[in-house]
Amino acid sequence: MLKLNHTFFNISHLFDDQITALLSRRISLDNPKIITDNREQLARKAGFNPQYLAIPHQVHSDIVQWIDKAGNYPNTDSLITDNHEVVLTLQVADCVPVYLFDKITKTRALVHAGWRGVVSNIVSKTTELMIEKGCNPKDIKVFCGPSIQQCCYEVNENVAKQFSDKSVVQFGDKFRVNLTMEIKQQLLNLDILDANIYQSSYCTYESEICHSYRRDGEKSARMIALFGEIG
Ligand SMILES: [Zn+2]
Repeated sequence: MLKLNHTFFNISHLFDDQITALLSRRISLDNPKIITDNREQLARKAGFNPQYLAIPHQVHSDIVQWIDKAGNYPNTDSLITDNHEVVLTLQVADCVPVYLFDKITKTRALVHAGWRGVVSNIVSKTTELMIEKGCNPKDIKVFCGPSIQQCCYEVNENVAKQFSDKSVVQFGDKFRVNLTMEIKQQLLNLDILDANIYQSSYCTYESEICHSYRRDGEKSARMIALFGEIG
């Protein structure tokens, strides 16, 4: 497992023994070259069979899908499954990758949450569907992965006003928003326990081991999230 930590942020320990929860880094620790966004290759490296990958074709929507098999899923930004074979994936470079896991039903969800998704409640909608299908909020653990943090995420007033006051700071006529704080509030409103919500301390914009669209523009690659069961 140690080797995995050189290519990925490894947050498997937050969840369960059978769970592997990863996010690819931009730069490998064993070999300081830039890691590109080849999902199949990264999946193999993590020990997953690429044929079990579920791949959302992300569109910054609030569309959540409950799935039972691998494959490509157009027009969606959140996939949920309780099928232990399916490996959930997504790609990010500044947006928040949100991992949700219910330890009792073994339900997993992986959400792509940029500002549009956050203000249209994609994380709430995912959590609500999990609850509707039998998950108890008290059993759900959540990890908000590396993303652009409030220190660096400047937005215009039209975007800022869609967030709650708590998640916005204003400097003159400029605004900075806190995506993970907004997500956390949505989770708390659905009775997810504060102690079960974890958050990465990495700001993608500032960290060279993260891809950042805002920093690198069109030449930015993506970090790949993988969330599955192994063994
Ligand atoms: Zn920052």
